[in-house]
Amino acid sequence: MPSLQPYSTFGLAASCDSIQSFTDVASFLSIFNTSKNNNNAIYILGGGSNSIFTDDFDGTVLVNEIKGISHFDTESHHYLRVGAGENWHEFVTLCMKEKWYGFENLALIPGSVGACPIQNIGAYGREVNALIDKVECVFLETGEQVLLSNEDCQFGYRDSVFKHALANKVLITHVNFKLPKHYELETSYGELAALTEPTPEKVYSKVIEIRKSKLPDPSELGNAGSFFKNPVVSKAVFQAIAQDYDSVPHFVVSGSADFPATENEQIKIPAAWLIDQAGFKGKTLNKVRCHPTQPLVLTNLGGATGSDVITMAKDIIASVQGKFGIQLEPEVRLLGSKGLISL
Ligand SMILES: Cc1cc2nc3c(=O)[nH]c(=O)nc-3n(C[C@H](O)[C@H](O)[C@H](O)COP(=O)(O)OP(=O)(O)OC[C@H]3O[C@@H](n4cnc5c(N)ncnc54)[C@H](O)[C@@H]3O)c2cc1C
Repeated sequence: MPSLQPYSTFGLAASCDSIQSFTDVASFLSIFNTSKNNNNAIYILGGGSNSIFTDDFDGTVLVNEIKGISHFDTESHHYLRVGAGENWHEFVTLCMKEKWYGFENLALIPGSVGACPIQNIGAYGREVNALIDKVECVFLETGEQVLLSNEDCQFGYRDSVFKHALANKVLITHVNFKLPKHYELETSYGELAALTEPTPEKVYSKVIEIRKSKLPDPSELGNAGSFFKNPVVSKAVFQAIAQDYDSVPHFVVSGSADFPATENEQIKIPAAWLIDQAGFKGKTLNKVRCHPTQPLVLTNLGGATGSDVITMAKDIIASVQGKFGIQLEPEVRLLGSKGLISL
């Protein structure tokens, strides 16, 4: 039974029936159809930085290695078509070298290009949906190839159609980006705002510096980035919490500025703050630790088990629920022996 440990940045010891990689749609469909005919479950994997295998998986893991980057430009835009198996950060770095700007805030996010639309990756004030033109997919059951527009993808905060109507129904083969040649740099996020005469290169370097200082490097300490999504609550819920605490960090969902909310606004409260207040920052359960400098990240101290991860995650959810009445939702994908599981 092949080990899945090197295929997931969280690095739990788990195995599966087989691991097969593919470099084009035809080879993917061939493996997929064979698995289907044999009644084998499948799981599509990119870089494994958002997937935690909590148990041995009874099925085949298909690793996307569709590569290739093509570019053309018009007077106003750069257009890029990128194979889903390209590494996200390497792609962002290439774009910086070529002066195809727009991705600088999204530097150093682990994983593949093909996964970026799924949870609409975002960081430091920018979400990738602002730069996605179209997503090319193949329907698993029929092999039909489709081109989804940005609108078709129904992007939201860490959300898209690929987590709902199209969940487990398509393989993303390519992502097409459209980058305006004239655009505004996004520097509203705290430490970026302090940059003097910001350029895309300065933002790119600063984002990498901040990320390296705050987030554990998965090659040194197993983790899957933010374990939970930041909850979005009504103003009433926010105000009830704000009555009990001197200062509750928060963001108005409809804008990027942090200013007092008006009646109809929804407020995003950092899950890291809620988890910290619930007393989990730095807390360890066997070999799973809630990271001391970023409690939104759970880490594998080496030899953690799936049940440790699940127990700690459930404890955090229950404590935050008990203390604040807010239900945290995982941002990571958790897998059990039969496939995706929920907490
Ligand atoms: C240290 C660290 C920091 C992180 N920081 C951020 C951050 O700042 N912002 C952010 O948004 N995320 C962040 N993440 C999460 C992660 O990097 C992203 O979710 C990334 O897009 C996952 O890519 P992946 O290829 O590794 O996904 P995987 O874990 O391989 O897959 C994720 C999901 O997508 C599906 N999938 C993957 N590829 C395809 C495809 N081609 N077709 C169909 N389905 C597919 C899988 O089945 C799975 O359900 C971080 C993770 C880590 C470890």
